[in-house]
Amino acid sequence: MRRATYAPASLTFHWTSHLATRFRFDPNPESLPADERAARMADPGFGQLFTDHMAVIRWSEADGWHDAAVTARKPLVMDPASSVFHYAQEIFEGLKAYRLDDGNTALFRPEANARRFRDSARRMAMPELPEELFVESIERLVDADRDWVPDGSGGGSLYLRPFQIATSVFLGVRPSSEYLYMVIASTVGAYWKGGPKSIRIWVSQDYTRAAPGGTGAAKCGGNYAASLLAQKEAIARGCDQVVFLDAAERRWVEELGGMNVFFVFEDGSIQTPPLTGTILPGITRDSILTLARDRGMTVREEPYALDRWRADAESGRLTESFACGTAAVVTPIAEVADPDGTFRIGAGGPGQVTTALSDALQAIQRGRAPDPHGWLHRLS
Ligand SMILES: *Cc1c(COP(=O)(O)O)cnc(C)c1O
Repeated sequence: MRRATYAPASLTFHWTSHLATRFRFDPNPESLPADERAARMADPGFGQLFTDHMAVIRWSEADGWHDAAVTARKPLVMDPASSVFHYAQEIFEGLKAYRLDDGNTALFRPEANARRFRDSARRMAMPELPEELFVESIERLVDADRDWVPDGSGGGSLYLRPFQIATSVFLGVRPSSEYLYMVIASTVGAYWKGGPKSIRIWVSQDYTRAAPGGTGAAKCGGNYAASLLAQKEAIARGCDQVVFLDAAERRWVEELGGMNVFFVFEDGSIQTPPLTGTILPGITRDSILTLARDRGMTVREEPYALDRWRADAESGRLTESFACGTAAVVTPIAEVADPDGTFRIGAGGPGQVTTALSDALQAIQRGRAPDPHGWLHRLS
């Protein structure tokens, strides 16, 4: 049987012939004046305050990756038949640029985001953006918008959102023959204002996030669209976030709507569900696993059942749990609720191990601690 190939290498790597042009820069003539920018950056919230520029690269079957530019941030004009609106062929990434104490800026593990973006593209039958072009698009945008990177004092950073959408004007169901890759940037404050909040999470009974063979490991908007009803239910139950169980047995804890989950035990070991294809391979997850191993901690990537979680929390065998992801970094879990009742984790506040791992990770991200794994990607 002949297997479908969606993005022949010859097309995917066509962009090399455009290396000479690389990124055009059209500065925004209406960039926000410095005093207005400073006023807005004083209390940016999360994902609401956008910078002056955006990065754009186009892909077509004929030209491969081409037309790379950093331009004024502006609305898109798109045909209503563009396939992304109908069949959701879309992927995205999320990473941060941090202001270091020496005034320079740095990205955290952008090469890992570049690799995951390619993996997501492959799963969604989209052309894969070369990793160096992904990283360069972010470098160029942060360079153009460098004044929008806040100092780290209040836990702020520049949140970067690369994404890729199908733009063929065609209602037939097949992979698009044209794509638009973009990066937008948003000045953000600390995700939880006033320090890490301990959250209460709702175990979804009626909905699952990802099934074996599905798109759970790809960072695609469709996964989020499918999670919103469960998240709404969590809010209605007085919770902050939803946690999903596996789709096959409804027994194993998988992850939150947009964060991975960790369990901390009395003996000092930590555990997180394994990457079997239904869980998003978080870069924060990987960083925490690495930091824990560096510290000589026992680390397990093994399935953990909801009934075990409840029993271990009640017996005291489990002492802490936390969620993690780029946006909020580390978020302690205080309570878990489902129709059978609520169970409390440890003392309900941020535990010692959670705090230590969170502090260690953030010290590296801010350039305040040695970086043995070369995770900081310094920009000038
Ligand atoms: C992005 C994301 C995460 C966290 O990944 P990071 O690379 O750590 O930001 C976890 N779960 C889901 C579903 C995600 O989309």
